[in-house]
Amino acid sequence: MFGRKKPLWGEKPPLSSGYDAVIIGGGLHGLATAYFLAARHNMKNIAVIEKRYIGFGGAGRNTAIVRANQRTQENLPLYKEGLELWPVLTKELDFNLMFYNCGNLNLAHSEAALKAMRLQTASAQFHGIDIRLVDRKECKELIPCLDISDRPRYPVYGGMFHPAGGIVRHDAVVWGLAKGAAKHGVHIHQGTQVTAINTDKGRITSVDTDKGKINTPRVLNAAGAYSAALSWHMLGIKLPISVLTIQAMVTQPLKPLLDHVVSSGMYHCYANQTLKGEIATGAHMDPWPNYTNQNSAHYIKHQAEALGEFLPCLRGVKFMRCWAGLADMTPDMAPIIDGNDPFQGYYTDCGWGYFGFKSSIVTGKYMAEYMASGQCPDMLKPFNMRRFENHRLMGETAALVNYSPDN
Ligand SMILES: Cc1cc2nc3c(=O)[nH]c(=O)nc-3n(C[C@H](O)[C@H](O)[C@H](O)COP(=O)(O)OP(=O)(O)OC[C@H]3O[C@@H](n4cnc5c(N)ncnc54)[C@H](O)[C@@H]3O)c2cc1C
Repeated sequence: MFGRKKPLWGEKPPLSSGYDAVIIGGGLHGLATAYFLAARHNMKNIAVIEKRYIGFGGAGRNTAIVRANQRTQENLPLYKEGLELWPVLTKELDFNLMFYNCGNLNLAHSEAALKAMRLQTASAQFHGIDIRLVDRKECKELIPCLDISDRPRYPVYGGMFHPAGGIVRHDAVVWGLAKGAAKHGVHIHQGTQVTAINTDKGRITSVDTDKGKINTPRVLNAAGAYSAALSWHMLGIKLPISVLTIQAMVTQPLKPLLDHVVSSGMYHCYANQTLKGEIATGAHMDPWPNYTNQNSAHYIKHQAEALGEFLPCLRGVKFMRCWAGLADMTPDMAPIIDGNDPFQGYYTDCGWGYFGFKSSIVTGKYMAEYMASGQCPDMLKPFNMRRFENHRLMGETAALVNYSPDN
């Protein structure tokens, strides 16, 4: 991309005074929805408005893990289809998204964790997802450098292996979707900020940007960590979202030693080896709400200690880079996907926490269907905002740590 005279998604288009749909946020969800609206629903007059550059948010900061080992019947089919879409989209976009189907191993460090995994495995298998329980010896066969002795603070009891999961190159997804969307006529406006959403008689009429006003009957709020603030300040809709800093880092490149993504809820740490040989690791979130894209010393210490405990061969390895992004967490750790409520033409796709990469393509596909038809597809119905008002939260909580003050 760098050194090119123009980006992959073409020359900067002029800001039109009217679009059939305006998508706020050039992240994964905004770009995916724009792509599917244009490619599948023939809605060509669409704008993606991005205040910085595409991929600025979580889209360009995530650790690119994809999997379908969620917990609830509402989430499992969505993530299953999401996982199956990566090779399809690679072909469709004619762009190498670098889907690396290496599989994910989640470690259990107690009998209780194993029991929870048994339940999770059964639910996933019921939905046809490729996943199985493994004992500690099989964990060692999958990850030879794993310490399965009694030495670590939290010894390994077994795990849940999900061969269908893996890694996809996140930048490639951003660039591939942007290129694909632009090819179908979508206007991508970087460096442009939506400053207001205007309504009349309960309908969306236009948005204001720092570059001018845009008339439109449809707006999608796909502003990631900023979506709740945007919805509250521009439309008075309060979303139950807390924003927390999530951090990640990579080591120096090493010889191949880790064939799968390995994660531990107890250590609150995951790791995988990138195609360049670096060990990418993350999971830690500062447990207080904030909007800081900065790393903390606390995190670096936590991550190094956790990694060195269950993968002791990594002790002494140097960290090369660390970075941070924001996670928009809901109380039930499931997203908010809604439309036409309370304003006709207003759509929301946010609250993705740290699951928003793996879900982006499939959600974009269904969100495009929703925006084109006005009818909510069955797949998205469980994620409506009213579930919070009706106290019907989903039990998607898949870790031992409570992230939000709402929990
Ligand atoms: C360190 C880290 C690791 C992660 N690891 C994983 C992982 O392994 N797997 C996984 O599935 N997920 C992971 N995630 C989560 C994932 O990255 C996010 O859930 C996902 O990026 C959310 O996508 P999005 O499109 O909703 O938002 P974003 O990608 O954040 O995009 C939102 C965009 O909206 C723009 N915007 C905001 N306000 C305005 C405005 N007023 N006008 C115009 N534009 C605006 C922002 O600039 C931003 O670019 C991780 C996140 C982080 C930070």
